[in-house]
Order: sequence, then structure tokens, then C-alpha cells
Amino acid sequence: MPETNTFKQDLQILKDLQVLDKQIYDFSQELMQVPVQQKVYEQEFESVKKNFQALEDKLKQAKLKQKEKELDLGQKEEQILKRQGQLNLVKTNEEYSAIRMEIANMKADNSVLEEAILLLMDEVEVETKQVNAGKETMKLEEKKLADRKTELVQREKECRFQIDDLKSKRKAFISQVNAETASFYERILAKKSGMALARIDSENCSSCQMKLRAQVLNEVKLQEKIVLCENCTRILYEEN
Ligand SMILES: [Zn+2]
Repeated sequence: MPETNTFKQDLQILKDLQVLDKQIYDFSQELMQVPVQQKVYEQEFESVKKNFQALEDKLKQAKLKQKEKELDLGQKEEQILKRQGQLNLVKTNEEYSAIRMEIANMKADNSVLEEAILLLMDEVEVETKQVNAGKETMKLEEKKLADRKTELVQREKECRFQIDDLKSKRKAFISQVNAETASFYERILAKKSGMALARIDSENCSSCQMKLRAQVLNEVKLQEKIVLCENCTRILYEEN
């Protein structure tokens, strides 16, 4: 029958194992962050894109308004010509004055329209420049997003590789520990964020900072059995 470890020997192995398990835990946490981070990057990009689309819409609206007013102006100018043609045909002075008045009013309307068109042309010019600059920004943002995604894929691969590697290393350690102690350790590990062991730090549990009772400290010193922190339920050990 093979010799079984003393608890003291097991504890030494568990301390080495703990180092690996902490790394596995940290890499697993990082892995979980990958899709979260990707979402953040995508949202950032969407927000930039939304702003750019709003700019494009604004330009489109200004161009449309300009076109409408130009159309309106053209129609009014035609009407003026028509009315001016009619001036030669009128029979009475009253009719003549009435048409002259109408023409004057239409001309006044047109100068207001012309003013508005000039303002819109300025707006279109400014916004066209903004949209063109925005197009360049969008290209850069698209590239940035693609680069970030590539980086995340690489990071994910790296994390998975490290986890696999560490897990195969831990197998060698855990197989040396007594089965009962090993399964106890695994149970605590699963519940305690990758840290199943807690070092004693001047009479306190270094993990939860709780002050340990004298009896607990003595039991840990003996290294005969598993002793748990009564507060955080991690396996306590003393640094040799
Ligand atoms: Zn504790």
C-alpha cells in the first residue's frame, strides 16, 4: 500500500496549488470580461456612428430646404414675368396699378426667399465640410473597432491557453493530495473566488482580516488537520 501524506505534507502541496488556482481564477475572470468589453467597444462605435448619421441627416435637410426655396423662387419669378406681360394688355389705370402692386409684393417676397437661400447655401457648405470630416473619422473608428476586436480575440485565445496549461499543471499537484483533503479543498475553492487558502497574518486571517481565536491559532500551528477561518471559511495556514 502506498504511503499516504501527512496533513502537513498535503498543506504544502495545497499552497503550491493555490498559486495555480489563483491564476486560473484570474484568467477565467478576464475571459468573462471579453464579451463585456466587446460590447463596450461596439457601443462606443455606435454612438460615434449615430452622431455622424445625425450630421448627414442635417445636411440632407438643409439641401432639401434650399431646393424647395429655389423652386419657389423660380415659380414666383415666372409669375412676375407673366404679370409684367399682362401690364401691356390692361385697359384701366386701376387694373394697371393693381398689377404693379402685385408685382412689387412678389418681388419683395422673392428678396426674402433669396436671403433665405443664401443662408441655406452657407449652411450646406459648412455642413458638407463637417460631413466630409466625419467620413474620415468614421473610417478611423471602423478600423479602431476592428483592431480592438482582433485584440480581444487574441486575448481570449491567450486566456484559454493559459487556463488549459494551468489546469493540466494543477492535476499533477492535486493528485498527490489525500482524496478527502483534495475534495474539501475543491469545494472551498469553487465558492471562494479562486482562493481556498488563507495565510495567518499576525493572528488575523489575511483574507478576511478577522482576528483568530487562540485555539484556532494553535490548531493551525499543529498542522494535523484542516482548520478553517470561522469567518470566511478558508483553510488557514501559517507561513513557514
Ligand atoms: Zn477569514
